[in-house]
Amino acid sequence: MFIPKRIIFEKDILKYPMASEILNSFKDNKGIEIIHMTSNRFKEYIPGNDLYTQFREGKKTLVIDTKKSLKFQSCKPSAHYQLPLVTGCMGQCEYCYLNTNLGDKPFIRVHANLDEILNQTKLYIQGRIPETTIFEGAATSDPVPVEPYTHALESTIKFFSEQKYGKFRFVTKYNDIDGLVNIAHNGRTEVRFSINTANIIHQYENGTASCEKRIEAAIKMAEAGYPTGFLIAPIFIYPNWKEEYQELLNMVKSKLPKKMKYPLTFEIISHRYTSIAKNRILEVFPNTKLPMNNEERNYKYGQFGYGKYVYPKDDLNEIKAFFSNEIEKIFIDKEIKYII
Ligand code: SF4
Repeated sequence: MFIPKRIIFEKDILKYPMASEILNSFKDNKGIEIIHMTSNRFKEYIPGNDLYTQFREGKKTLVIDTKKSLKFQSCKPSAHYQLPLVTGCMGQCEYCYLNTNLGDKPFIRVHANLDEILNQTKLYIQGRIPETTIFEGAATSDPVPVEPYTHALESTIKFFSEQKYGKFRFVTKYNDIDGLVNIAHNGRTEVRFSINTANIIHQYENGTASCEKRIEAAIKMAEAGYPTGFLIAPIFIYPNWKEEYQELLNMVKSKLPKKMKYPLTFEIISHRYTSIAKNRILEVFPNTKLPMNNEERNYKYGQFGYGKYVYPKDDLNEIKAFFSNEIEKIFIDKEIKYII
């Protein structure tokens, strides 16, 4: 669970029950600074004159605000829309796309006007009937470490349990899901756990839950009948990578319940980066050992108009062959959604 160093409450936010409940949960904790904003400039309340410090202080800051624009962003190809519950993440994964995406605002924002957000979700669903509309709850965040006190996922899962034409999905590197295990989900929410080898987690995924804890949480969700899957990402090629990823897959297999309601899904994504991301990562993590040597990668133009450095074709083919063979061999009731 994310315990912030400071919590910043937007002006007039306490009229929302989520905001006042968060205040009640933390107000007696002397170690947490509580700030009630008088202006709308969050950044004024977060110390640091340079990106390195702002990033670290921002990652310890929780902002409670409202989602002003209820126009949802598209979220292709994994869903139709992003569902804006939370923005940002307490983790400090060195390769994280949020490092670029959230610029110099790495703080965690929780939107307290959840009822309005879910009403808007209903309108999006109704607009596409008879098609099913899929919403992604972790497009710009990891919503799980704040769940014990926001209950935003819980309310959203309950909302989707009654949506015949709507589905919800989210992905996490955390394990604070106990409040979600016993709620009525009606199979309308899919949960994926992002995992990697111990080596990669240790080197690059600072401040996240251990792989064992993520797998344990995945098993609890699968046993509770949720459609469950694993995102193995980013895949790195390094000495012993095949042995270590094989060990990871075997560990998942050894812990899986005998019978699952839905096939276990896999999404496999190899490591890639943009030039903007690389510059930003080097600024925030000057000692990073992330492999980002452009000479060793291929440059690939993406659908959003900017290119990425990806592994060369032979390496990608090796990754694809390795994961499809191993998953096929180890798991019975499974679906590989993609390997890229
Ligand atoms: Fe980014 Fe996910 Fe790591 Fe959070 S846990 S820093 S969202 S990669």
